[in-house]
Amino acid sequence: MKIPAAAKSSKTATEFERRAARAELLARGAAAAQEPLRFAAGLYRVQGRVAQGLEEAHSGQSLSGSLEMDLDRLAGAIGSVLRYAAEEGPEGLAEQARARQEDLPATAPTRLLVAWAGDLPAAEDYLSRAILRPYAETLRHAGKAPDRVHRQGRCPFCGGLPWIGARRDAAEMEGARRLLGCSLCGLEWPFQRIVCPACFEDDPYKLPIFQSAPHPTVRIEACETCRRYLKSIDLSEDARPIPEVDDLVSWSMDLWAAEQGWTRIEPGLAGV
Ligand SMILES: [Zn+2]
Ligand SMILES: [Zn+2]
Repeated sequence: MKIPAAAKSSKTATEFERRAARAELLARGAAAAQEPLRFAAGLYRVQGRVAQGLEEAHSGQSLSGSLEMDLDRLAGAIGSVLRYAAEEGPEGLAEQARARQEDLPATAPTRLLVAWAGDLPAAEDYLSRAILRPYAETLRHAGKAPDRVHRQGRCPFCGGLPWIGARRDAAEMEGARRLLGCSLCGLEWPFQRIVCPACFEDDPYKLPIFQSAPHPTVRIEACETCRRYLKSIDLSEDARPIPEVDDLVSWSMDLWAAEQGWTRIEPGLAGV
């Protein structure tokens, strides 16, 4: 007897599902961050389905890495991310998503190309990042380099901005390793411990660290020189957190940082 093969989740889709499950788990315990965590869980599920579609049809291999050439394959991604944001997003984002739905198909592809070619700052264009993320992550798992500009301090694979940092245990002599997480393709890459990833300031006296008692494993790693900061999560005691998801639990710290005049290098999923 032949047993039909079950629909197998693609590697990228599995990653998105892991993040969605973590966001749901955290939402149950974090009253103050329930909204962004629930929204993130749903967004991860939408992105996971997009990634599954991209990989199923072509194992990611027929994607070129050039957004212009792959754009027609992203029609589903554009539609489903905009629909989710319009229906479930916080008011400001939902409005933007509805405006973009009305503009379809005239301007949506253009905006994606602009975001892809530029710095993709989510503070200005959260939706493009959300649409492009499953595409970029599928490219990474398929080993297809995207045609984006690479600069120091950016993701070595796709050139994306780091939106979160993590400290993990390394060999005893080295102390904790510092890793940056890419906001576009999800790659984690090692980075010098005492250097600002935005302007490369390395004077420790110009790199203040802020912490908050309710979130002892979270740090705001700021830079006096460029007034930017990276948020980082200590994973040396507990390896379960997924930095970009656990980030949302302490989003009040980002609101505080903004009040103090600091700008996050790249906003997290809560949009701050
Ligand atoms: Zn990347
Ligand atoms: Zn700096």
